[in-house]
Amino acid sequence: MEPKENINIISRETRGKIEKNTELMEHVSNKGIITDLIKKAEYGTPILKLGHGDPKLMITAGIHGDELPPQIAAMWLIEDLNSKINGTLYIIPFAVPNATMKNSRRFKGFDMNRTASKSGFISNKIVNTVKKLEIDALADFHSTKPGSNPGIQSVFCSKKPCYQSYLMAEHVTNHTPSKMICHKEAGTLYKGAIEDECNLAGIPAITCEVVSKNGTVDGKSPEKSYLQMKAYLEYFKAI
Ligand SMILES: [Zn+2]
Repeated sequence: MEPKENINIISRETRGKIEKNTELMEHVSNKGIITDLIKKAEYGTPILKLGHGDPKLMITAGIHGDELPPQIAAMWLIEDLNSKINGTLYIIPFAVPNATMKNSRRFKGFDMNRTASKSGFISNKIVNTVKKLEIDALADFHSTKPGSNPGIQSVFCSKKPCYQSYLMAEHVTNHTPSKMICHKEAGTLYKGAIEDECNLAGIPAITCEVVSKNGTVDGKSPEKSYLQMKAYLEYFKAI
């Protein structure tokens, strides 16, 4: 049993009742540490710390509240790891509980993956937390509906300023059926993605996508997201 102090809250305005998302709850067992996280989400965005020492890694999911597969996969990972990790792993399984509760992509009208450079937004608070905790690398997990952009199982990365972003993406795409989408420089297409803001701050980061319609769980999409998470952790020999 995890001691409760391993879960902290990094923003209060994002609070929400995860249990109200019945589609999400169908796929997770509401017990133990998962129940603790869901209860904590009523007070804000929960962040769970597992293990200690190096490397210090982070996994985030639910930046878009209606992207359910990665949020489910993050909860499965927490259960399956059972705190067995080489180094430290911080997991934010639902970054915006309020948006997850409402099965909504946006929070207060904003896309949280375009606001990571703007003070006060939860995505900016996450990037600040990454800096404060001196995280070595971050992977942000999403899902994408068929026919949208990117619309395919994929891993976003950039080569500048953090070449390791590319190496991480290379590993994940080599070990899962994901396509690499590599940009020369972070943050050149648009501003405010968590991945880009981390890379621009010198912390290597990737964004992983699996295919599923927004607000639903298609096929084996949580399993696919879960395998992307494991490949990321394997790159750092954390598991
Ligand atoms: Zn997304």
